[in-house]
Amino acid sequence: MSELGIRKEIIATCLKMEELGINQGTSGNISHRFKDGILITPSGISYDLLKPKDIVFVPFSSKEDFVGEYPPSSELDFHFDILRAKPEINCVLHNHSTYATSMAICRMDIPSHHYMVGVGGGKKIPCAEYATFGTSELSQNIIKALDGYNACLLANHGVVTTAITLKKALNIAIEVENLAKQYIMAKQIGKPVILGDKEMDKILEKFKSYGMKK
Ligand code: 13P
Ligand code: ZN
Repeated sequence: MSELGIRKEIIATCLKMEELGINQGTSGNISHRFKDGILITPSGISYDLLKPKDIVFVPFSSKEDFVGEYPPSSELDFHFDILRAKPEINCVLHNHSTYATSMAICRMDIPSHHYMVGVGGGKKIPCAEYATFGTSELSQNIIKALDGYNACLLANHGVVTTAITLKKALNIAIEVENLAKQYIMAKQIGKPVILGDKEMDKILEKFKSYGMKK
């Protein structure tokens, strides 16, 4: 995709999150690998005001040498560190969706109550340890939590998903929110039954050839 194409898709994905109700205002941020660096949303600007030229380029060689009228997202550290640590993915999406964040506030992983938890790449959606937003400590905690997973919760904060494309990263974020909602709802009416390790092994095997290819 061209640089302009990526800039437009980042904005379209931000607006889609808002439309779906999984993010709003200036919450959350998105990045996409581009050449020898990343394209990332600027800090603190409402999605509905974003123009393609406002998306900031940050070279992997130096975070300080960003190119753009506005400074990059306050969460540059984790976008930067994830894209450097995981060459197999191109996109990082962060939001504060309500149900998933509620579980993160309780410092809970999303367990394997449904086979779709496999979209996160493993047997749960793990919750990263707490650190203040916009810090390198938060980035380190996320990198740890994402070991073996492509999605995690951020304690008392929100959600991070990673994927090859923005469409996939958004689909994972939507599913994480749905999983958290199911779990919270199920807890209202009874004791959720969690799928066991062996069943999850079978499910993860099937996931290798199932869906989310586009
Ligand atoms: P930015 O506007 O700086 O991207 O911050 C939003 C956010 O969600 C911080 O965690
Ligand atoms: Zn945030």
